[in-house]
Amino acid sequence: MSQKAAVSTQTLQAQCREHVLPPFTDYQALNAKGARVITRADGIYIWDSEGHKILDGMAGLWCVNVGYGRQELVDAAAKQMQELPFYNLFFQTVHVPAIELASEIASVAPKGMRKVFFTGSGSESNDTVLRMARHFWACQGQPEKKWIIGRENGYHGSTVAGASLGGMKAMHSQGDLPIAYIDHIPQPYWYGEGGDMTPDEFGVWAAEQLDKKIQQIGADKVAAFIAEPIQGAGGVIIPPDTYWPTIKKVLAKYDILLVVDEVICGFGRTGEWFGSQYYDLQPDLMPVAKGMTSGYLPMGAVLVGDRVANVLTEQGGEFYHGYTYSGHPVAAAVALENLRILKSEKIVERVKAETAPYLQKKWAELADHPLVGEARSVGLVAALELVKNKQTRERFAGGNTGMRCREHCFSSGLVMRAVGDTMIISPPLVITCEQIDELVALARQALDATWAELNA
Ligand SMILES: *Cc1c(COP(=O)(O)O)cnc(C)c1O
Repeated sequence: MSQKAAVSTQTLQAQCREHVLPPFTDYQALNAKGARVITRADGIYIWDSEGHKILDGMAGLWCVNVGYGRQELVDAAAKQMQELPFYNLFFQTVHVPAIELASEIASVAPKGMRKVFFTGSGSESNDTVLRMARHFWACQGQPEKKWIIGRENGYHGSTVAGASLGGMKAMHSQGDLPIAYIDHIPQPYWYGEGGDMTPDEFGVWAAEQLDKKIQQIGADKVAAFIAEPIQGAGGVIIPPDTYWPTIKKVLAKYDILLVVDEVICGFGRTGEWFGSQYYDLQPDLMPVAKGMTSGYLPMGAVLVGDRVANVLTEQGGEFYHGYTYSGHPVAAAVALENLRILKSEKIVERVKAETAPYLQKKWAELADHPLVGEARSVGLVAALELVKNKQTRERFAGGNTGMRCREHCFSSGLVMRAVGDTMIISPPLVITCEQIDELVALARQALDATWAELNA
């Protein structure tokens, strides 16, 4: 059966060039070659308009956790669209899917997180975080406690608040960001920035930068610290073992909210329901999105811990904030069905007991490749560091080895993302051990091709 699109790839690319401004894209570079057009998907595979089958090592954008082609999710959406395609949660109305979904999420959330504020995406969730954290302190007579500390190279989305809380220099360079009262500390990226320290020493050092920053700003002016359990878009940066315990010690000294951005780690990525459970964290606020609906519809939320929820519900007055699509009933019905699938198929448990340990073992074997300086993973998220010198961790000149490798991945039938010269994967949580073998074999094939090109 031919998988080719009815309209030719050339025609689609020409129309795209004419009318589409895709996100995070260098338009000149794209238009010089034309975009890859994805036409269909099933399980862990996608197909492009030329009929190529590609193993989706990124689960879309870290989100298609239950895999593509799930009829149950299609049916849940269709049913909800017929019954109540839209209603809002503003001004004291509500609908059944929102109530049921909030209750279901609370049943798997970390202890003490029992309330849910719905949004339409991860970025919106972080806009909500910023406003809710400041509102929380203002309600208690401390409106000056409004600084939020994030991390360099952290990613919290692409709206003004999201990009400001995040620490991506390239994003800050456009649109005059970050906005006021946001500051950043170094990231716990030992491989790239650890210098002569051991990973454990560096983890402590990086966490102590939070203490320094809080003292510099003044604890009475800091509302919250925000971080991803494992940095995703920054390059799957898995902090050294000493990092989170030291951060917890620092936070215990001051009265500051902990915001754990679970947009990637949430809903099973680490083999626990949430990254906070993996690292034993007690967040006050937890933005989620992506895996919440397995990407079938856009939806996000902020899970709110008891401390913040109590202030909002007992002394907050009206919270002047929300989105037209907060808790959208069709998205909520899909999220509910997605949660049902995760539970009934024991997908999170299977990641922890079976596929994560298997990926860890197979992925680590790639470290024997001449290009690979480090191969790391937690749960079903993993990274490879491409280096010229494994001993000194020196990179190749030009900084485009990752992009070259990414091209070879596509050619061999694998989506693996490049963040500089770090290659990353985050496959659907339903990937099997045999499919992990296939993924790792394709990755090795791409590494070999990259190596050959570098030595040509
Ligand atoms: C993707 C992501 C976001 C932004 O989510 P969008 O749905 O793209 O707005 C925020 N935080 C983290 C950690 C993410 O990975």
